[in-house]
Amino acid sequence: MSEPAEKKSKRVIVVGGGVTGLAAAHRVVEVTNRTGQHIDVSLLEANPRLGGTIVTTVRDGCLIEGGPDSFITQKPWALALCRRIGIEGELIPTNPACRRTFVVRDGEMYPIPEGFLLLAPSRIWPFVTSRLFSWPGKLRMGLDLVLPRKHHGTDGDESLASFVRRRFGRESLDRVAQPLVGGIYTADPEYLSLRTTMPRFLEMEAKYRSVIWGMVKGRKAASAAERGDSGARYSMFMSFRRGMVTLIDALASRLPAGVIRTGAAVSRVSRGPTSWCVELADGPIEEADAVVLACPAHVSARLIRQVDSSIADDLASIRCASSATMTLAFDAAQVPRAPDGFGFVVPVVERRTMIAATFSSIKFPGRAPEGTLLVRAFLGGAMQPQVYDLNDDELRQAVLTDLRDLVGLRGGPKLIETHRWPASMPQYPVGHLDHVRRIEAKLARWPGLAVAGNAFGGVGVPDCVRSAESAVDRLLGCVVATTPSRSPAT
Ligand SMILES: Cc1cc2nc3c(=O)[nH]c(=O)nc-3n(C[C@H](O)[C@H](O)[C@H](O)COP(=O)(O)OP(=O)(O)OC[C@H]3O[C@@H](n4cnc5c(N)ncnc54)[C@H](O)[C@@H]3O)c2cc1C
Repeated sequence: MSEPAEKKSKRVIVVGGGVTGLAAAHRVVEVTNRTGQHIDVSLLEANPRLGGTIVTTVRDGCLIEGGPDSFITQKPWALALCRRIGIEGELIPTNPACRRTFVVRDGEMYPIPEGFLLLAPSRIWPFVTSRLFSWPGKLRMGLDLVLPRKHHGTDGDESLASFVRRRFGRESLDRVAQPLVGGIYTADPEYLSLRTTMPRFLEMEAKYRSVIWGMVKGRKAASAAERGDSGARYSMFMSFRRGMVTLIDALASRLPAGVIRTGAAVSRVSRGPTSWCVELADGPIEEADAVVLACPAHVSARLIRQVDSSIADDLASIRCASSATMTLAFDAAQVPRAPDGFGFVVPVVERRTMIAATFSSIKFPGRAPEGTLLVRAFLGGAMQPQVYDLNDDELRQAVLTDLRDLVGLRGGPKLIETHRWPASMPQYPVGHLDHVRRIEAKLARWPGLAVAGNAFGGVGVPDCVRSAESAVDRLLGCVVATTPSRSPAT
């Protein structure tokens, strides 16, 4: 006898097994457990390996991160997920002893002044005494204190470059904002949407007129809140003792057996009379009540073109930059001028190959044997696509030349590992959030279809977790109250 219709279990298919896809599949299981709804979930990943851009390897006693090496805790969604899946105890902070980043200026290293947060100082004295900026540059930045505000309206957006030039001047853009912010998004600041990436700077201008004044007030308020807060403290960035893959492994292990299928590349998603049809490149057509596309936006565009070409065009128009990481191990004595910090960023005006370098074994102690310095170079991105196109040998030579010139490297590496990420970093142009809203509005025409990932509200791991969970909550039509109400202190 067949089951009554209302008792029949629903099926959700998640396409993509990066952190977004895994967080989405996990959310389906959470909803099922909490509500008692009957929902089966399948996760289809094209590669033999899960994790997408998250990959951790261990070689010769060195722990190497090929993609992200940490995540920000101010955005609470990844941390909240770690708590729920029981891996909070695996988290490690960045090394508190040398939380400093340097900027290359005319081939020399200068520390970012204490209290300088991405675009502006929140402490005046360290900024005034810093040798990173020229005196005319500092005076121009100080003009922010008296400049009038620009009225953007509620939805207004502006490029990072335009905002920084307007409030702080050209030197601030070229020397700090471009390498720091452009480096995170591997983006060209002339196009990068400030409202999508760092809306709080626009909000500060709207509220306080002066961004510096807003930063100083914000820092004082945060210090006061911290003094009165007895909760757990997290550093601004956290990773895992055994690397970022911990999050991937933990999510995968919490999914019921048979949910995950690797080596399962989806070639097309179409709408059948009563269900969604998910076609595999070499396999049967799977049917589902709902589909979460958690693969890169340009792939999602291709998969759903026959369902809705307008949404496909919108997704395809989100451009992505290609980048690479190259991790090299040296005897510490080979790098006599390594600055005492987590690493350095290189402004494009310096005309070097590297965008940035992280001293991974200093940022997270225990990542390399005693006496070994693990350096991770960040390469390519929207401003230097020609660097990504170099072959491995050319890339290696260029990175070694930069390290010789900038930190006095002598000799070659004991170990070298390169990871390439083609078209993996979405670029958010001015007006991006409106573009995302248009996509969401069009998707509303297709109940049971959702997109999630780094192309929409933010590129970081926490943003991907949020995107995945809210897509599933929307799809399943229920919100699960699992996110802690209080943001963790940083
Ligand atoms: C070099 C680098 C450094 C970064 N550093 C940080 C950092 O320090 N902190 C941070 O928070 N973020 C960082 N990010 C950003 C962050 O890592 C990514 O935004 C995030 O991991 C993206 O996850 P995702 O699951 O959305 O996409 P992906 O990781 O790209 O996963 C998508 C998955 O979909 C699969 N797929 C594609 N097509 C198909 C198909 N047809 N069928 C089935 N499966 C398919 C892919 O194989 C892949 O596994 C970094 C990114 C890069 C590239």
